Amino acid sequence: MGEFELIRQYFAAASCARTGAGVVLGIGDDCALLNPPSGNLVAVSTDTLVAGVHFPEVCDPALLGQRALGVSASDLAAMGASPLGFTLAISLPQAEADWLQRFAAGLNQMAEQCALPLIGGDTTCGPLSLTLSVLGHVPPHQALQRSGACVGDLLCVSGPLGDGAGALPLVLNRSLGDSETERYLLARYWAPQPQLGLGVALRGRATAALDISDGLLADCGHIAAASQVCLVIDQEQIPYSEALQRIYRPEQALQYALSGGDDYQLAFTLPPAQLPVLQAEGWPIQAIGWVEVGQGVQLQTATGHRITPAVRGYDHFERGS
Ligand code: ADP
Ligand code: MG
Repeated sequence: MGEFELIRQYFAAASCARTGAGVVLGIGDDCALLNPPSGNLVAVSTDTLVAGVHFPEVCDPALLGQRALGVSASDLAAMGASPLGFTLAISLPQAEADWLQRFAAGLNQMAEQCALPLIGGDTTCGPLSLTLSVLGHVPPHQALQRSGACVGDLLCVSGPLGDGAGALPLVLNRSLGDSETERYLLARYWAPQPQLGLGVALRGRATAALDISDGLLADCGHIAAASQVCLVIDQEQIPYSEALQRIYRPEQALQYALSGGDDYQLAFTLPPAQLPVLQAEGWPIQAIGWVEVGQGVQLQTATGHRITPAVRGYDHFERGS
């Protein structure tokens, strides 16, 4: 199978590669042509996933396709952007029909779920790696940046934390999920749910937002730094899934929520009056802290003590140093 046949069969022919209102011209020409709603800003984000670094060398290609796009689309959600399209640059050791068919099916499923059309990409031969760029649109002045948190705001999250890190031992052991609990955690890792609807709902309401990919402490640290405020996290208010609590002790669950990664929930700051409004709209969001004068992130422990935790998010160039 040649490069062009591969692109045609597995990507151009996928149902997510159809053109539509936002995509005037899709796969097949030198560039795709997009038509965002008049006056909107275009939001762009790129993520690379390398085999052996971001995912196990041996894994289910359908799950990999699903996860790769879910992780990327989460950045659009965190910006409050509506989906416009995505590109896929894939480097493959060989063109294996079964692998490609399953990968494309998983990718297509997440693309349809996110309403994100595949608009182009690049296909090369080499070690397995994926680079996805997602594009979205957002009205001027409504993007959810990291820099707007205000003293007095609440710190909120979109759902339970720690599941991504709690799933990792199962992922690395190539567990197929022996129980409902394990299957839930594996799904949280392999099919992260980009909070695109919530991101749009937060436009004009949240003062700052991001998606939690490196753990609550590291990611809240980014908001604190960009907004020049102190974020206080009340340890007692951190939400956990039933599954995580069933498998792990409370200290381990806390550790995963604070310093694990891969949760892809949104963390955002909100004027207090907005919380009941959003909850009444049905968004399952929860306050876990607040914004104060100062800098960095502080943790209020169960006994009411304040500590300044060491932030250890994942850094690709710090390994072994
Ligand atoms: P060029 O030589 O102009 O870069 P390519 O031969 O790389 O074009 O790609 C041909 C068309 O197929 C382009 O529209 C490109 O965007 C698309 N394409 C290539 N690889 C992929 C892929 N993995 N997924 C989706 N579209 C792809
Ligand atoms: Mg090319």
